[in-house]
Amino acid sequence: MIAIPDVMRAVVYRGPRLLRVETVPVPSIGQNELLVRVAVCGVCPTDIKKITHGTVDPPRVFGHETSGVIAKVGPAVRGFRVGDRVGLHHHVPCRDCHFCRHGAFAQCLTYKRTGVTAGFEPAGGGYAEYVRVMSFVLPGVVRIPRQNSFEEGAMLEPVNTVLKAVKRLALSQGDTALVAGQGPIGLMFTRLLQLQGVRVLATDRLPARLKLARQFGASWAMRADAVSLPQSIRRWTGGRGLDAAVIAVPVDQVVCQSLEWVRGGGQVLLFAHTKRGEKTPLDLARICVDEVDLIGSYSSDATLQSEVARLVFSRTLDVRPLITHRFPLDQTGCAVDLASRPHPRALKVVVSQ
Ligand SMILES: [Zn+2]
Ligand SMILES: [Zn+2]
Repeated sequence: MIAIPDVMRAVVYRGPRLLRVETVPVPSIGQNELLVRVAVCGVCPTDIKKITHGTVDPPRVFGHETSGVIAKVGPAVRGFRVGDRVGLHHHVPCRDCHFCRHGAFAQCLTYKRTGVTAGFEPAGGGYAEYVRVMSFVLPGVVRIPRQNSFEEGAMLEPVNTVLKAVKRLALSQGDTALVAGQGPIGLMFTRLLQLQGVRVLATDRLPARLKLARQFGASWAMRADAVSLPQSIRRWTGGRGLDAAVIAVPVDQVVCQSLEWVRGGGQVLLFAHTKRGEKTPLDLARICVDEVDLIGSYSSDATLQSEVARLVFSRTLDVRPLITHRFPLDQTGCAVDLASRPHPRALKVVVSQ
């Protein structure tokens, strides 16, 4: 039995750009719930957007790429024990509704609820010492093997979102895809596509990231602003154009360019355009006449969970080089600042306790 305190430290979102370290009660859990002592929580761009733009109401405790140790098990829970090392998913679909039957898990109403919390309106809670894991997200609790780290466990959720998107692409072996943006997400795309036999053209503005992209399996890596880029694409695809383009940067111009660079019947997948209300003119004949699919992918897919765990824990997709910075809980604000700007030496930033 591990002694659980009554109060804990949590980083509470109190308004736009305002994160405060506070003492709050350790969440109590119900019959069908778990309490997890947080070890590592990744800083995710979607949380950064909420924190900087104030798109949701305070107070909340963010952080949803969470791993840790089970500290308490509700009496009705089966299959978990105190001391288990686990990675969490804060969104889990019901797998029974109209959306789930169509495979649109991220649109399921159960999925849209957040099932991990450190108190207040549930928002992930990973920037706290303990989190309560509600019953409907228990199917998303994954055990971390002995030989793997909490950091690897915390990467399951982001890797899942990338694998889900890769599966939306109709690519065959030997095809050519652009991955625009080689931050942690872009690098995961590069590696997962390469594992499927796709030739990846990786672009970024930072030269250090282009070097990493090659290590992650890119066939070519080029500066995003290189004037020879369109010409190179034509050369590498025999004049036909890209089979697909993945846009892992929130830049509209890259979307418009990519729509021109994919072949007829190809795909452009949006992964970073999560901010609502912005509009961009498009040549719609590219979509109608040239049959280019403009698609998006958001969040994770619970049916991919074991495949993701295999990829990460076997280190087929080795996430360890992606984690470059670790901050203690008290300095979560600094972690968010660092992760919010592309930085030549920073990739994945985590809060580590
Ligand atoms: Zn995330
Ligand atoms: Zn559902």
